[in-house]
Amino acid sequence: MQVADITQLPAEMENTSAMRIGGTCQSYAGYFPDTNYLDHIPIKYIRVNVHWFNSADSSKNKVGQTAIDFAKGLIDTANKDLERNQAMWLPHGNSTQLLPIRHRYVLTPRPNDPNDDGIYFHFVEDESCYLVHKGKNTNLYKRGIIRKYGVQLDTVLNIFIMPHHPDSVASPTYRPSSTGVALGPAVKIAGMAENDRPSWEFRSLLNHEIGHIYGLTHTWAYNDGCNDTPKHSQSCWSRNQRPECKDQTSNNVMDYNAEQNAWTPCQIAKVQKRMADTKTKARGFLQERWCSLNPNAHISIRDSISWKGAKDLEGHLTIERGGSLTVECRLSLPKDGRINVKAGGRLILKDAQLHNSCGEEWEGIQIEEVGKEKGEVFFVGNPNIENARNKIDLSSSDTISGE
Ligand SMILES: [Zn+2]
Repeated sequence: MQVADITQLPAEMENTSAMRIGGTCQSYAGYFPDTNYLDHIPIKYIRVNVHWFNSADSSKNKVGQTAIDFAKGLIDTANKDLERNQAMWLPHGNSTQLLPIRHRYVLTPRPNDPNDDGIYFHFVEDESCYLVHKGKNTNLYKRGIIRKYGVQLDTVLNIFIMPHHPDSVASPTYRPSSTGVALGPAVKIAGMAENDRPSWEFRSLLNHEIGHIYGLTHTWAYNDGCNDTPKHSQSCWSRNQRPECKDQTSNNVMDYNAEQNAWTPCQIAKVQKRMADTKTKARGFLQERWCSLNPNAHISIRDSISWKGAKDLEGHLTIERGGSLTVECRLSLPKDGRINVKAGGRLILKDAQLHNSCGEEWEGIQIEEVGKEKGEVFFVGNPNIENARNKIDLSSSDTISGE
C-alpha cells in the first residue's frame, strides 16, 4: 500500500456523512435506475416457490399438471409485467418518469433434489388449508401454516395458493375474490381455486403482494414516502366503469384496480433500497449473484458519476481515463473482483464502505500509473475498505500500455 496515492480530503462542514442503516444510505434518490447506466443497478432475482393447498380429498384446488402449468404461468406473466413497466395514469396529465423495474422472480426448488421443482401440494385434513380473508373467522394473518408447510423460508419467498373456505363461499356476503396478504417469508393468495380464470389474470396480485414484502405500501390513502404516488379516491376500478373514471382510475401496482402494472420511480427505488439493505430478511430471498465474479457484468465508468445508494456489483469496476466515480454508501465487489482506477481516472470514497457482502475476499483497489500519470483515489470522511486482499495496490508502471 502506498499512502502517497491516496488523498485525504477534509470532510465538508455539514451533511457529509451519509446516514447508513443496514449498509444503505437512506434516501430513495440513490436507488433510481439511471437509464443511461442501467448496468449500475444489476437486476435482482427473487427466489420463489409455490404451494397448492387443498382439502384431503383434493377437491378444493387445482392439482397435477394443471396446477404446475398455472404456477409457472403466474410467475412468467408476473415477470412480463415487471419487464414492461407502464406509465402512471394518475395524477391525470402527469409527467412521472417511466423507468425500468430491476427485479424478477425465479422458481426455485431445493438444491440437490432432482425431484423438486419448487411447486408443492398439500392435502390437508383440517381446515387450515383454507383462506378466510374477512369476518370473525379470518385467518388471513395467521402464520402457523407458514411455519408448518413453508420450504426454505430463509432463502425462498413462499407463495401459498389457498382456496377460500367453502362456508365463506356459500355466504352471500363473502366474495371469493382474488385476494392476498404478505407475511414476512410468504405471501398467501386466494381466488384461483374458485373459477377457471387463467394464471395471467392473477399476475398483478402477485406483484402487489411481493411489493409489500419489499417495503411498498398502499398509496391511495396514505403517505407511502413517495411523492410520485398520488392519493386518490380509489372510487374507480377501471377506466370504462363510468365516464368520470376515464381520468380518475389508477393503474399503480400498489392501488386496487384492474391494471396494477405501473410502478413509479420512487417505488422502484424503494424496492431496490430494501434489497440492498443487509439487515432485512427480504434480502435473503435474492439470488446472491454478487458473491462470485461474472465476466459479463464488468462496469466501466467514463463519465462523472455519483453513487448515493448501496450497490452489490457482479463484475470488476473500472474507472477509465476521464471518468470520475464518487461512492457514498456501501459498495460490494464480487469475490476476486477489483476496482481499477486507470491513469486519468478518479475514485472518491466519501464515507463509503467497500467490501464483499458474502464475506469473501476481493482484490481491492488497483491504481494504474502510466508514465507520470496515475489514477487518483480520494478519501473523504471515514471510508472503510473491508475483505480486500490489497486495499490499495499500485500496479507496476511502464508495463501498462495506457490504452
Ligand atoms: Zn396490499
